Amino acid sequence: MQSTGRFTDDLRRLVARSYNICQCCSLTLPHEIAAYAGYTFDGTPIYVGQCCVDKIDELATHVYWWWEADKRCEPDTCLWRYMDFAKFVGLLEARALFFCRADLLGDGFEGAAGIAERRGTYDQFYLDFFRNAVRTAPGQTVPPPTEQVEHEAHRLLAEFTATGERDRKTSFVSCWHANTGESEALWRLYCPPSTVGVAIETTAQALVEAYGNDTKIKLGRVQYVDYRRSFAGIHDRIFWKRKSLSHEAEIRAVATQHGEQLDAGILIPVDVEKLCKSVIPSPFAPDWFVNVLSATIKRFEIDLDITQSELLAEPFF
Ligand SMILES: [Zn+2]
Repeated sequence: MQSTGRFTDDLRRLVARSYNICQCCSLTLPHEIAAYAGYTFDGTPIYVGQCCVDKIDELATHVYWWWEADKRCEPDTCLWRYMDFAKFVGLLEARALFFCRADLLGDGFEGAAGIAERRGTYDQFYLDFFRNAVRTAPGQTVPPPTEQVEHEAHRLLAEFTATGERDRKTSFVSCWHANTGESEALWRLYCPPSTVGVAIETTAQALVEAYGNDTKIKLGRVQYVDYRRSFAGIHDRIFWKRKSLSHEAEIRAVATQHGEQLDAGILIPVDVEKLCKSVIPSPFAPDWFVNVLSATIKRFEIDLDITQSELLAEPFF
């Protein structure tokens, strides 16, 4: 079946949440068996395995789902964002979320393929892969001379490496912490005692709705990897981080923006009322802060719930 490459927003959403599950019969697809994304005869988006491929009337694309990490997160996943007061006012003022350019996020491993000491292994793999591709490219009557194979394979490797480096500068990220409740560690990190700040509580679904269901923004669970043993995936490196950061339990929204001008970040418009299920003033902030917070929100004519931090609950004995 010829693929048309036609993608509607609904099909994109379906693919993102399906991964290795046939959406027709709920079968878990066997590893290394491609899924089919497309439409039924009446235009309904559909994502199926070989098991139900006869339901497809128009094939949009094959999906080699195991090439990517499983980044799915349930729509009701609780997400948190801790920030100082200035950043929160910025959000209210702009009615937009700041997506930071990946190479400026402060983690040198953002978008990395692996650790430097294993670069040789990685490059060797791709060099062999490209050599083989050049050697066996269709339409050749005689195999190309070794010198040409080497030249082409090295050129392709250089291009591949440059793409990885460029992706760090064209990916923009909004980071969220997945947790069922507050984290004292994150309060101390982002709003240490005597400073003022807030946490925003939301859900994965509310976040997506707040930025208008834009399917060009990818929301996904960060994968924490031991780079001494593995490399990041080639298609979704921006969702991989070092295992030592796994306490962050991060879910991130990633937007891409190409072009000559490299901004430090981009503002993505959001419906703040949809985004914030509640706003929690820092438990370490002085008493007057709650009033200031409440007055500030009112001044922007936004209706938000302010909830007391669970860290302020009193014990009994
Ligand atoms: Zn099926």
